[in-house]
Amino acid sequence: MNLNKKTVKDIELAGKRVVMRVDFNVPIKDGRITDDTRIRAALPTIKYILGKGASLTLLTHLGRPKGEAKPEFTVKPAADYLASLLGQDVKFINDCVGEEAVAASKALKPGEIMCCENTRYHKEEDMKCKGDADKIAAQKTFASELAKLGDVYVNDAFGTAHRAHASTAVITEFLDKENCVAGFLLDKEIQYLGQAVANPKRPFVAIIGGAKVSGKLEVLTSLIEKVDTILIGGGMAYTFLKALGHSVGNSLCEDDLLDVAKETLAKAKAKGIKFLLPVDNKIADDFSNDANTEIVGVEIEDGWMALDIGPRTAELYANEILGAKTIIWNGPMGCFEMPNFADGTMIVCSAVADSDSVSIIGGGDSVAAVNQSGLADKMSHISTGGGASLEFLEGKDLPGVCALADR
Ligand code: AMP
Repeated sequence: MNLNKKTVKDIELAGKRVVMRVDFNVPIKDGRITDDTRIRAALPTIKYILGKGASLTLLTHLGRPKGEAKPEFTVKPAADYLASLLGQDVKFINDCVGEEAVAASKALKPGEIMCCENTRYHKEEDMKCKGDADKIAAQKTFASELAKLGDVYVNDAFGTAHRAHASTAVITEFLDKENCVAGFLLDKEIQYLGQAVANPKRPFVAIIGGAKVSGKLEVLTSLIEKVDTILIGGGMAYTFLKALGHSVGNSLCEDDLLDVAKETLAKAKAKGIKFLLPVDNKIADDFSNDANTEIVGVEIEDGWMALDIGPRTAELYANEILGAKTIIWNGPMGCFEMPNFADGTMIVCSAVADSDSVSIIGGGDSVAAVNQSGLADKMSHISTGGGASLEFLEGKDLPGVCALADR
């Protein structure tokens, strides 16, 4: 995948109608936005485009309305919130396709902005086509309608760049390819991730945690080829420990993946990289913050489950992290949402913050942990796309990136 993509800086914007895919998939409770990170993240590109004298139409999805217009998934609160951040009117249009939307986009003056209703109110947006000619045709028709909203297409939604959806990829088939470019946010994502994969400063350390091995197997296999050290934490560690013959009690464990876990360990050994597993654990007699707890080694008795890495492991991992020059982190070291099982994740987080490295944090839960720690500004890059960053690190092409013009 060529990562040298044109950005908004590489094209003429003055007087143009720009249609931009953003990721305003924000949490909303009782009509109020509870986390505005994604809206704020799009501001630099929005301001740049408007400042260059273009008009701007925004497209986004929000939640999973599954192809129906469901009021609980309306984008209107996000549009209103954006207006308050920008200090200017953001016109809201009730549909992302159709005559009203097209006419409204044409009526915008340079420097004016509008936002369309949820793209996923239409099933064609995120339809799985898998070679089905009728579905492919329906999605193309929908994408061609979206393309009528502008002459220039900007993608700034990294979180959905791994999906070949109508508004993230197919739309570019109906516009001049040279006018399909990346926004600042998407560009920053691919530059950081691309640099880490193609030309990392070493030692290159990957910290991989979270619930299951199954979701992260491909990324582990790919990382074994690229990194010097992999630190494993979270629920996934116990499948590896069991594969090595240890007892894991009631800890999370994917028994059907024990052979795969053994193969992964063998691949890491053959490649000569360090593949570290917890040497001690914080165990609990219940999946609850109030459970009785103990710190034990790698043998866990029945009736107990490991919900965090232990202090020796945290120290061991912190030492590896402090010596790193490039760090990729995806997935917490334990059930950090419960304060009694957050220590491992927080110690790792502090070490990443203290390290003299390029640190890239990806995945909703690790990002939440970093935000919880208050150390977010110490990280080099916090990815806005968990799934997209994993697929990137797995070496897969991201359709939303491939669809943009090469520089
Ligand atoms: P993932 O989405 O795969 O990154 O997993 C994140 C989730 O894994 C978080 O909600 C954590 O609470 C959970 N998790 C981390 N460590 C453990 C553990 N030892 N046992 C069970 N769940 C865990």
